[in-house]
Amino acid sequence: MGFRATVLTLYPEMFPGHLSYSLAGKAMERGQWSLDSVQIRDFATDKHRTVDDTPAGGGAGMVLKPDVLARAIDSTCENDARPRLLMSPRGKPLTQERVRELAAGQGVIIVCGRFEGVDQRVIDARELEEISIGDYVLSGGEPAALVVLDTIVRILPGVMGNDLSGLHESFEGGLLEHPHYTRPQEWEGREIPAILTSGNHGAIEKWRHEQAVALTKERRPDLLKD
Ligand code: SAH
Repeated sequence: MGFRATVLTLYPEMFPGHLSYSLAGKAMERGQWSLDSVQIRDFATDKHRTVDDTPAGGGAGMVLKPDVLARAIDSTCENDARPRLLMSPRGKPLTQERVRELAAGQGVIIVCGRFEGVDQRVIDARELEEISIGDYVLSGGEPAALVVLDTIVRILPGVMGNDLSGLHESFEGGLLEHPHYTRPQEWEGREIPAILTSGNHGAIEKWRHEQAVALTKERRPDLLKD
């Protein structure tokens, strides 16, 4: 059985979204991973199928109700060891390292927030791991869930055509990746760096590493600290 993703959302029709295309889509067709989306609203019990309410203490917006969300979560994960993630701008920033750990497991359960977010008690009671995809605010967790799943699926065994192509990528060695070039040899007066067409593989590796270090120093010195 492949990697199993379950997404809890008020907009299940947003899934699998872009993940039904290209390599991720083909891998899904081959059964290497699967995605089901659960409509949180199906777990509301009143006649208006209410999923949110006003924030305790006052303030703008609405908050997802803990009872409804907990029932939705509980419906997916009886006897289920999969990590339960909550998309949240307050979460730990997603890293390639966490992506690798998640991809090595059986799957994930992902909760997508909406409105101002979700009641804190359900985060605590269901031990949701809050994950952020960056320091900016989305209108809902759905695009974030698609980002998280994209990063996982592309590194599942056999999904990328050439499994080696992941090795030198940005973040894998704690560095950003070196620049890429392809034919034509000359384009708009710009040449491919001569070293890349020299056939000297040792020199090419050395040049790429130097480029990666220089780029990382310039753009992301924070990555070099460790
Ligand atoms: N009031 C909240 C923002 C709510 S945004 C705050 O200030 O922290 C609505 C939902 O979008 C969130 O519940 C979360 O699920 C999702 N979301 C917004 N920004 C995100 C980010 N950077 N990473 C992951 N999820 C995010």
